[in-house]
Amino acid sequence: MPDRILVLNAGSSSLKFGLYQGLERNSPERVVKGQIEGISTRPRLRVRDAAGEIQVDEALGSAVRDGAGALASVERWLFAHFDRKALAAVGHRVVHGGQEYTCPTRVSPDVMRTLRALAPLAPLHQPFNLAAIDAVSGRLPDLPQVACFDTAFHRGHEPVADLVPLPREIRDRGVQRYGFHGLSYEHIASALPDVAPEIAAGRVLVAHLGSGASICALRDGRSVDSTLGFTALDGLCMGSRPGALDPGVVLYLFQALGMSVSEVEDVLYRQSGLRGISGISNDMRALLGNKDPAARLAVDYFVFRAAREIGALTAVLGGLDGLVFTAGIGENAAEIRQRICEASAWLGIELDAEANEMNGPRITTPGSDVSVWVIPTNEEL
Ligand code: ADP
Repeated sequence: MPDRILVLNAGSSSLKFGLYQGLERNSPERVVKGQIEGISTRPRLRVRDAAGEIQVDEALGSAVRDGAGALASVERWLFAHFDRKALAAVGHRVVHGGQEYTCPTRVSPDVMRTLRALAPLAPLHQPFNLAAIDAVSGRLPDLPQVACFDTAFHRGHEPVADLVPLPREIRDRGVQRYGFHGLSYEHIASALPDVAPEIAAGRVLVAHLGSGASICALRDGRSVDSTLGFTALDGLCMGSRPGALDPGVVLYLFQALGMSVSEVEDVLYRQSGLRGISGISNDMRALLGNKDPAARLAVDYFVFRAAREIGALTAVLGGLDGLVFTAGIGENAAEIRQRICEASAWLGIELDAEANEMNGPRITTPGSDVSVWVIPTNEEL
């Protein structure tokens, strides 16, 4: 009886994967986790076992030029180590499920048609997520595939939270706020009762700070609002995306600067945010500790914007019981957490500097009115 699931999270330059077992007990545990990074540049395969020990770390040939090539490498490695027949299904992270998909959905040609139509709403992610589904269909056609959506966790908001205040004819075309990073938030919400039981049923903000970044407001473990909207461009400053922007700026790029649609798309998705402000890098590690004034301005803006959104979402929740940091920056960058907490001290946050340096899990003093936590995300689970 097949009892394993392969989970794929396909990006523009990386393919992350995890193999899980224990389905029949409804308590899946990871057997291996790996990724191919640098697809089309310098592809490299890294795999860790359940204990986190590195099993493979090797450069791949230049044949790995796209997602299909990456999947072929993963498949080769997996089936050299695990029985192909034990695989029951493949689960995919898919960024955009639109209005239609509010829970994990079995992939079919009809589902794929709907998901392809959403690609312009998430050009950095959706085409790569769907290419991975196509590649699995081609290579392992008899395996069921299930798409799990980053937007799904946010369905169920009050109408005002999802409204884009434009004329009805435009809204009727699906123009609304969707929210993203839902697989991450769902995982954090499910971890709260164990890790931070005193806030799990309360008013909690989760700051997912990675290359993409957003904050989600949870009430009793359910999303009530988030900083990402119709696309993954809104809200916080991100690695290469600006976050919230006066739409008049976009008009100006077209009208006064004569930019084309694809040039504007490139500015908004790839040239802005930390990269655009610093002119140095989209990677927080390269900016922290960098004395260049432009690097410092980028970090200052990142912190400023996060603190501003924490204030706004606290208003949505009518107060705050807990704050959780997660994802690459949230889990690892003590300096960023410290600065965001200091800027949010007015909420009753009192940081425990030592616990913060140790990356938590709880990083506030026992007397802090609002408790702050570091909880690793696990979108694959
Ligand atoms: P994604 O999955 O969206 O690519 P991640 O959650 O992996 O993003 O986060 C990537 C970000 O996390 C990058 O900006 C990277 O610099 C930052 N990051 C990772 N580790 C550290 C660290 N030790 N200190 C500071 N930033 C870090």
